[in-house]
Amino acid sequence: NTPARDRLRIAIQKSGRLADPARALLTSCGLSWRESRDRLFCYGESLPVDLLLVRDDDIPGLIAEGVCDLGIVGRNVLLEQGYDRAGNGGAPAFREWRALGFGGCRLALAVPDGWDWQGPEQLAGKRIATSYPATLTRWLAEQGIDAKVVLLSGSVEIAPRLGQADAICDLVSSGATLAANQLKPVTTLLESEAVLAGPADALDATRGELADLLLRRLDGALRIRHSKLLLFQAPRRVLPDLLPLLPDAEAPTVMRLDDGDDLALQALCHGAVTWQRLEELKRAGARGLMVLPVEGMLA
Ligand code: ATP
Ligand code: MG
Repeated sequence: NTPARDRLRIAIQKSGRLADPARALLTSCGLSWRESRDRLFCYGESLPVDLLLVRDDDIPGLIAEGVCDLGIVGRNVLLEQGYDRAGNGGAPAFREWRALGFGGCRLALAVPDGWDWQGPEQLAGKRIATSYPATLTRWLAEQGIDAKVVLLSGSVEIAPRLGQADAICDLVSSGATLAANQLKPVTTLLESEAVLAGPADALDATRGELADLLLRRLDGALRIRHSKLLLFQAPRRVLPDLLPLLPDAEAPTVMRLDDGDDLALQALCHGAVTWQRLEELKRAGARGLMVLPVEGMLA
Protein backbone atom coordinates (compact mmCIF):
# COMPACT_ATOMS: atom_id res chain seq x y z
CA ASN A 1 0.00 0.00 0.00
CA THR A 2 1.23 3.44 -0.94
CA PRO A 3 1.02 6.14 1.77
CA ALA A 4 -1.89 8.57 1.43
CA ARG A 5 -1.13 11.51 -0.82
CA ASP A 6 -1.70 14.98 0.56
CA ARG A 7 -1.71 16.65 -2.86
CA LEU A 8 -4.56 16.50 -5.36
CA ARG A 9 -3.72 15.04 -8.76
CA ILE A 10 -5.71 15.89 -11.90
CA ALA A 11 -5.28 14.06 -15.21
CA ILE A 12 -5.81 16.04 -18.41
CA GLN A 13 -5.16 15.30 -22.08
CA LYS A 14 -1.51 15.86 -23.02
CA SER A 15 -2.36 17.07 -26.50
CA GLY A 16 -5.56 17.10 -28.52
CA ARG A 17 -8.87 18.88 -28.54
CA LEU A 18 -9.34 19.08 -24.78
CA ALA A 19 -5.76 19.87 -23.74
CA ASP A 20 -5.75 23.67 -24.04
CA PRO A 21 -9.30 24.40 -22.84
CA ALA A 22 -8.83 22.06 -19.85
CA ARG A 23 -5.68 23.84 -18.79
CA ALA A 24 -7.23 27.27 -19.38
CA LEU A 25 -10.19 26.35 -17.19
CA LEU A 26 -7.96 25.18 -14.34
CA THR A 27 -5.83 28.30 -14.72
CA SER A 28 -8.97 30.43 -14.40
CA CYS A 29 -9.50 28.66 -11.06
CA GLY A 30 -6.20 30.10 -9.85
CA LEU A 31 -4.00 27.04 -10.38
CA SER A 32 -0.47 27.34 -11.72
CA TRP A 33 2.29 24.79 -12.25
CA ARG A 34 5.97 24.36 -12.62
CA GLU A 35 6.34 22.03 -15.58
CA SER A 36 8.65 19.07 -15.51
CA ARG A 37 11.03 18.55 -18.41
CA ASP A 38 9.24 15.59 -19.90
CA ARG A 39 5.91 17.41 -19.65
CA LEU A 40 4.19 14.43 -18.12
CA PHE A 41 3.81 15.81 -14.65
CA CYS A 42 3.21 19.44 -13.68
CA TYR A 43 3.87 20.35 -10.06
CA GLY A 44 1.26 22.73 -8.61
CA GLU A 45 2.67 25.98 -7.27
CA SER A 46 -0.24 28.10 -6.09
CA LEU A 47 -2.04 25.13 -4.51
CA PRO A 48 -1.04 21.50 -3.88
CA VAL A 49 -2.81 20.42 -7.07
CA ASP A 50 -0.64 18.62 -9.63
CA LEU A 51 -1.40 17.74 -13.26
CA LEU A 52 -0.71 14.51 -15.07
CA LEU A 53 -0.66 14.85 -18.87
CA VAL A 54 -1.90 11.67 -20.55
CA ARG A 55 -3.89 10.16 -23.44
CA ASP A 56 -7.56 10.85 -22.87
CA ASP A 57 -8.38 7.13 -22.99
CA ASP A 58 -6.22 6.55 -19.90
CA ILE A 59 -8.05 9.05 -17.69
CA PRO A 60 -10.96 6.92 -16.39
CA GLY A 61 -8.58 4.07 -15.55
CA LEU A 62 -6.19 6.38 -13.69
CA ILE A 63 -9.10 7.56 -11.55
CA ALA A 64 -10.35 4.00 -11.01
CA GLU A 65 -6.90 2.94 -9.82
CA GLY A 66 -6.55 5.99 -7.58
CA VAL A 67 -3.42 7.15 -9.42
CA CYS A 68 -5.27 10.40 -10.11
CA ASP A 69 -8.09 11.96 -8.10
CA LEU A 70 -9.82 13.90 -10.86
CA GLY A 71 -9.66 14.13 -14.63
CA ILE A 72 -10.97 16.18 -17.53
CA VAL A 73 -12.23 13.92 -20.29
CA GLY A 74 -15.03 13.65 -22.84
CA ARG A 75 -18.28 12.19 -21.51
CA ASN A 76 -18.12 9.80 -24.48
CA VAL A 77 -14.88 8.26 -23.16
CA LEU A 78 -16.06 8.15 -19.54
CA LEU A 79 -19.35 6.44 -20.40
CA GLU A 80 -17.76 3.99 -22.84
CA GLN A 81 -15.27 2.82 -20.24
CA GLY A 82 -17.96 2.75 -17.56
CA TYR A 83 -20.22 0.55 -19.73
CA ASP A 84 -17.23 -1.61 -20.58
CA ARG A 85 -16.43 -2.14 -16.88
CA ALA A 86 -20.10 -2.79 -16.09
CA GLY A 87 -20.20 -5.34 -18.93
CA ASN A 88 -17.28 -7.15 -17.30
CA GLY A 89 -19.01 -7.13 -13.93
CA GLY A 90 -16.91 -4.26 -12.56
CA ALA A 91 -18.19 -1.71 -10.04
CA PRO A 92 -18.58 1.88 -11.23
CA ALA A 93 -15.28 3.34 -9.99
CA PHE A 94 -15.64 6.80 -11.54
CA ARG A 95 -18.42 9.20 -12.41
CA GLU A 96 -19.09 12.61 -13.94
CA TRP A 97 -18.73 15.38 -11.34
CA ARG A 98 -19.36 18.43 -13.53
CA ALA A 99 -20.14 19.19 -17.17
CA LEU A 100 -17.61 21.75 -18.37
CA GLY A 101 -19.23 23.32 -21.43
CA PHE A 102 -16.49 22.75 -24.02
CA GLY A 103 -15.51 19.89 -26.35
CA GLY A 104 -19.11 19.47 -27.43
CA CYS A 105 -19.90 16.69 -29.91
CA ARG A 106 -22.30 13.79 -30.26
CA LEU A 107 -21.93 10.08 -30.76
CA ALA A 108 -24.09 9.38 -33.77
CA LEU A 109 -25.09 6.53 -35.95
CA ALA A 110 -24.44 7.25 -39.63
CA VAL A 111 -25.50 5.33 -42.71
CA PRO A 112 -24.63 5.67 -46.42
CA ASP A 113 -26.27 8.68 -48.11
CA GLY A 114 -28.28 6.37 -50.32
CA TRP A 115 -30.12 4.64 -47.47
CA ASP A 116 -33.76 5.57 -47.00
CA TRP A 117 -33.66 5.69 -43.19
CA GLN A 118 -36.84 4.38 -41.55
CA GLY A 119 -35.55 3.62 -38.07
CA PRO A 120 -33.19 1.44 -36.02
CA GLU A 121 -34.92 -1.79 -37.16
CA GLN A 122 -33.09 -1.34 -40.46
CA LEU A 123 -29.83 -2.16 -38.67
CA ALA A 124 -30.87 -5.73 -37.89
CA GLY A 125 -28.24 -8.11 -39.21
CA LYS A 126 -25.96 -5.27 -40.37
CA ARG A 127 -22.33 -4.60 -39.44
CA ILE A 128 -21.66 -1.32 -37.61
CA ALA A 129 -18.10 -0.03 -37.26
CA THR A 130 -17.22 1.96 -34.13
CA SER A 131 -14.57 2.85 -31.56
CA TYR A 132 -17.35 2.84 -28.94
CA PRO A 133 -18.34 -0.84 -28.77
CA ALA A 134 -19.77 -0.82 -25.23
CA THR A 135 -21.95 2.24 -25.82
CA LEU A 136 -23.15 0.91 -29.16
CA THR A 137 -23.82 -2.59 -27.81
CA ARG A 138 -25.85 -1.14 -24.98
CA TRP A 139 -27.85 1.06 -27.35
CA LEU A 140 -28.55 -1.84 -29.71
CA ALA A 141 -29.76 -3.92 -26.78
CA GLU A 142 -32.08 -1.09 -25.67
CA GLN A 143 -33.49 -0.94 -29.20
CA GLY A 144 -33.84 -4.72 -29.25
CA ILE A 145 -31.71 -5.00 -32.37
CA ASP A 146 -29.30 -7.74 -33.27
CA ALA A 147 -26.42 -6.25 -35.29
CA LYS A 148 -22.72 -6.99 -35.51
CA VAL A 149 -20.38 -4.49 -33.82
CA VAL A 150 -17.10 -4.11 -35.71
CA LEU A 151 -14.40 -2.58 -33.49
CA LEU A 152 -12.07 -0.10 -35.23
CA SER A 153 -9.70 2.16 -33.34
CA GLY A 154 -9.62 4.92 -35.96
CA SER A 155 -10.78 6.03 -39.42
CA VAL A 156 -14.19 4.58 -38.71
CA GLU A 157 -15.80 6.75 -41.37
CA ILE A 158 -14.14 4.96 -44.28
CA ALA A 159 -15.22 1.49 -43.14
CA PRO A 160 -18.39 1.41 -45.30
CA ARG A 161 -16.42 2.37 -48.44
CA LEU A 162 -13.86 -0.33 -47.66
CA GLY A 163 -16.63 -2.86 -47.28
CA GLN A 164 -15.78 -3.49 -43.61
CA ALA A 165 -19.17 -2.34 -42.35
CA ASP A 166 -22.63 -1.22 -43.49
CA ALA A 167 -22.98 1.68 -41.08
CA ILE A 168 -20.89 3.45 -38.48
CA CYS A 169 -21.24 4.88 -34.98
CA ASP A 170 -18.79 7.74 -34.43
CA LEU A 171 -18.28 11.20 -32.95
CA VAL A 172 -19.70 14.05 -34.99
CA SER A 173 -19.37 17.77 -34.52
CA SER A 174 -19.95 19.58 -37.81
CA GLY A 175 -20.80 16.52 -39.89
CA ALA A 176 -18.27 17.51 -42.58
CA THR A 177 -16.24 14.30 -42.20
CA LEU A 178 -19.35 12.19 -42.62
CA ALA A 179 -20.47 14.12 -45.69
CA ALA A 180 -17.01 13.74 -47.25
CA ASN A 181 -17.44 9.97 -46.90
CA GLN A 182 -20.97 9.89 -48.34
CA LEU A 183 -22.52 9.16 -44.96
CA LYS A 184 -25.38 10.86 -43.12
CA PRO A 185 -26.09 10.92 -39.38
CA VAL A 186 -29.48 9.39 -38.56
CA THR A 187 -29.60 8.98 -34.76
CA THR A 188 -27.76 10.39 -31.76
CA LEU A 189 -26.68 7.88 -29.11
CA LEU A 190 -25.24 10.44 -26.75
CA GLU A 191 -24.59 14.17 -26.41
CA SER A 192 -21.05 14.72 -25.19
CA GLU A 193 -18.87 17.50 -23.82
CA ALA A 194 -15.79 17.65 -21.63
CA VAL A 195 -16.54 16.73 -18.02
CA LEU A 196 -14.73 16.77 -14.71
CA ALA A 197 -14.56 13.11 -13.70
CA GLY A 198 -13.87 11.88 -10.21
CA PRO A 199 -14.15 8.70 -8.18
CA ALA A 200 -17.58 7.26 -7.45
CA ASP A 201 -16.71 7.31 -3.74
CA ALA A 202 -15.64 10.32 -1.68
CA LEU A 203 -11.95 11.29 -1.50
CA ASP A 204 -10.13 11.17 1.83
CA ALA A 205 -10.27 14.25 4.08
CA THR A 206 -7.22 16.19 2.84
CA ARG A 207 -7.76 15.67 -0.85
CA GLY A 208 -11.52 15.99 -0.38
CA GLU A 209 -11.04 19.49 1.04
CA LEU A 210 -8.81 20.45 -1.87
CA ALA A 211 -11.34 19.05 -4.33
CA ASP A 212 -14.15 21.02 -2.63
CA LEU A 213 -12.13 24.20 -2.89
CA LEU A 214 -11.49 23.54 -6.55
CA LEU A 215 -15.15 22.72 -7.22
CA ARG A 216 -16.29 25.99 -5.64
CA ARG A 217 -13.89 27.94 -7.84
CA LEU A 218 -14.86 25.88 -10.86
CA ASP A 219 -18.57 26.52 -10.32
CA GLY A 220 -17.83 30.23 -10.11
CA ALA A 221 -15.71 30.11 -13.26
CA LEU A 222 -18.35 28.12 -15.17
CA ARG A 223 -21.16 30.38 -14.03
CA ILE A 224 -19.49 33.59 -15.19
CA ARG A 225 -17.96 32.21 -18.36
CA HIS A 226 -20.50 34.07 -20.50
CA SER A 227 -21.59 36.57 -17.86
CA LYS A 228 -21.44 40.35 -18.10
CA LEU A 229 -22.07 43.13 -15.65
CA LEU A 230 -24.56 45.57 -17.14
CA LEU A 231 -24.63 49.17 -15.83
CA PHE A 232 -27.32 51.65 -16.86
CA GLN A 233 -29.66 54.38 -15.75
CA ALA A 234 -33.42 54.59 -16.12
CA PRO A 235 -36.45 56.39 -14.74
CA ARG A 236 -38.16 54.37 -12.01
CA ARG A 237 -41.44 54.08 -13.94
CA VAL A 238 -39.93 52.07 -16.82
CA LEU A 239 -38.43 49.37 -14.56
CA PRO A 240 -41.31 46.92 -15.09
CA ASP A 241 -40.57 47.06 -18.84
CA LEU A 242 -36.81 46.88 -18.45
CA LEU A 243 -36.29 44.08 -15.97
CA PRO A 244 -37.77 41.29 -18.14
CA LEU A 245 -35.35 42.31 -20.92
CA LEU A 246 -32.23 41.56 -18.84
CA PRO A 247 -30.79 38.29 -20.17
CA ASP A 248 -30.86 35.68 -17.37
CA ALA A 249 -29.99 38.31 -14.79
CA GLU A 250 -29.68 38.11 -11.04
CA ALA A 251 -31.74 40.64 -9.08
CA PRO A 252 -30.17 44.00 -10.01
CA THR A 253 -28.68 46.43 -7.52
CA VAL A 254 -30.70 49.65 -7.68
CA MET A 255 -29.36 53.04 -6.56
CA ARG A 256 -31.37 56.23 -6.39
CA LEU A 257 -29.86 59.24 -8.18
CA ASP A 258 -30.21 62.64 -6.40
CA ASP A 259 -33.75 63.84 -7.01
CA GLY A 260 -35.74 60.65 -6.95
CA ASP A 261 -37.18 59.36 -10.19
CA ASP A 262 -33.84 58.50 -11.82
CA LEU A 263 -32.18 55.24 -10.88
CA ALA A 264 -28.75 53.75 -11.53
CA LEU A 265 -28.81 49.97 -11.91
CA GLN A 266 -26.27 47.22 -12.03
CA ALA A 267 -27.21 43.72 -13.09
CA LEU A 268 -25.16 40.56 -13.43
CA CYS A 269 -26.41 38.90 -16.65
CA HIS A 270 -25.67 35.26 -17.34
CA GLY A 271 -27.35 35.27 -20.76
CA ALA A 272 -25.90 36.79 -23.91
CA VAL A 273 -25.87 40.60 -23.80
CA THR A 274 -26.18 41.23 -27.54
CA TRP A 275 -26.31 44.54 -29.39
CA GLN A 276 -29.92 43.79 -30.18
CA ARG A 277 -30.73 43.36 -26.52
CA LEU A 278 -28.98 46.63 -25.66
CA GLU A 279 -31.04 48.40 -28.33
CA GLU A 280 -34.24 46.93 -26.88
CA LEU A 281 -33.26 48.14 -23.42
CA LYS A 282 -32.59 51.60 -24.79
CA ARG A 283 -35.95 51.70 -26.54
CA ALA A 284 -37.57 50.71 -23.26
CA GLY A 285 -36.03 53.73 -21.54
CA ALA A 286 -32.54 52.74 -20.37
CA ARG A 287 -29.67 55.23 -20.75
CA GLY A 288 -25.91 55.08 -20.45
CA LEU A 289 -25.75 51.34 -20.98
CA MET A 290 -22.34 49.88 -20.23
CA VAL A 291 -21.31 46.21 -20.52
CA LEU A 292 -18.39 45.04 -18.37
CA PRO A 293 -16.58 41.69 -18.37
CA VAL A 294 -16.63 39.68 -15.15
CA GLU A 295 -13.27 38.28 -14.07
CA GLY A 296 -14.21 36.27 -11.04
CA MET A 297 -17.11 35.40 -8.79
CA LEU A 298 -17.37 33.57 -5.49
CA ALA A 299 -20.92 32.97 -4.37
P1 ATP B 1 -5.50 11.12 -27.35
O1 ATP B 1 -4.20 11.22 -28.07
O2 ATP B 1 -5.45 11.86 -26.04
O3 ATP B 1 -6.03 9.72 -27.21
P2 ATP B 1 -7.77 11.49 -29.15
O4 ATP B 1 -7.34 11.51 -30.55
O5 ATP B 1 -8.39 10.24 -28.58
O6 ATP B 1 -6.55 11.96 -28.24
P3 ATP B 1 -9.17 14.02 -29.58
O7 ATP B 1 -9.41 13.89 -31.04
O8 ATP B 1 -8.24 15.08 -29.10
O9 ATP B 1 -8.83 12.63 -28.86
O10 ATP B 1 -10.61 14.26 -28.92
C1 ATP B 1 -10.77 14.33 -27.53
C2 ATP B 1 -12.23 14.52 -27.23
O11 ATP B 1 -12.73 15.69 -27.84
C3 ATP B 1 -13.18 13.44 -27.72
O12 ATP B 1 -13.17 12.29 -26.90
C4 ATP B 1 -14.51 14.16 -27.66
O13 ATP B 1 -15.03 14.14 -26.34
C5 ATP B 1 -14.14 15.59 -27.99
N1 ATP B 1 -14.54 16.02 -29.37
C6 ATP B 1 -15.18 17.17 -29.67
N2 ATP B 1 -15.43 17.26 -30.98
C7 ATP B 1 -14.94 16.16 -31.56
C8 ATP B 1 -14.91 15.67 -32.89
N3 ATP B 1 -15.42 16.34 -33.92
N4 ATP B 1 -14.28 14.48 -33.10
C9 ATP B 1 -13.73 13.81 -32.09
N5 ATP B 1 -13.77 14.21 -30.81
C10 ATP B 1 -14.37 15.37 -30.53
MG1 MG C 1 -7.85 9.01 -27.25
